[in-house]
Amino acid sequence: MAEVPMELARRLVGANPARLTVRGLNWGPQGMAPIVRDIDFSVEPGEMLAVVGPNGAGKSSLLRCLYRFHRPSQGAVLLDGEDIWALKPRSIARRVATVLQEPASDFGLSVAEIIELGLTPHLDQFSDPAYGPVEDALALMNLTPFAGRDFGSLSGGEKQRVMIARALVQKPDLLILDEPTNHLDIRHQLEVLDLLAGLPTTVIVSLHDLALASAHADRVLVLEQGRSVQLGTPLEALTPDNIRRIFAVEAAIDSHPATGRPRFSFHLNSSDP
Ligand code: ADP
Ligand code: MG
Repeated sequence: MAEVPMELARRLVGANPARLTVRGLNWGPQGMAPIVRDIDFSVEPGEMLAVVGPNGAGKSSLLRCLYRFHRPSQGAVLLDGEDIWALKPRSIARRVATVLQEPASDFGLSVAEIIELGLTPHLDQFSDPAYGPVEDALALMNLTPFAGRDFGSLSGGEKQRVMIARALVQKPDLLILDEPTNHLDIRHQLEVLDLLAGLPTTVIVSLHDLALASAHADRVLVLEQGRSVQLGTPLEALTPDNIRRIFAVEAAIDSHPATGRPRFSFHLNSSDP
């Protein structure tokens, strides 16, 4: 992926990056206390927002509200000003692509066929379901040699890259990814996050790795027990005090000598047991 031009990636995404607005959002299973509470934020067209927070903070639940899987108990999610629950699922599928945490393990399909599924929402617009975007996406994700392989035979990291490729051929104006790097080796983690940061489309990505989030995202939303407790640039949202309070670790922050981006490293408080 390193030498693949960003132009290739740009051809794959939609032409109208979306603005997403979340207003007074609450969600919880019926009859239970809300899991996502009083969330307000907006993501600008082309921006990359990282959602971080400890395990169980509500990152996946929040994202499920954003891609119209969970219907809010209160509040609303607006895509370019329109309530996503007032839109048809198909019109959402044409604009919003997702990469979820547990990709189905085995569809009995090849890698290229899985990626082609991303074209489904657009099929009636293309007279010929062009193979071009699939090849572009395979190349972009270093998957060309895997095109004919059975998806079920891939490693976790390879599957994760296939699911990203599938989301890209969907030509999203908004790309939502739930911890897309957790199975990737360090090289692919950096490549995927660089790619996401360089895409002109709007990106919302949950990450449990604060260092990755701060090195790549424009802004960071910090969740704690279902609430948004910080929202800002990495340096604004992830101060040592905030990190100590929310994640119970000490953070040292400096500037990376190669990239100039904030660099985080962590240690336990020496008085911790
Ligand atoms: P994260 O992705 O930040 O680890 P989740 O959004 O997966 O957090 O979960 C937040 C909390 O809500 C967890 O305690 C989880 O067990 C609970 N939870 C999530 N979805 C449901 C559900 N459908 N029913 C009951 N509890 C849920
Ligand atoms: Mg999660």
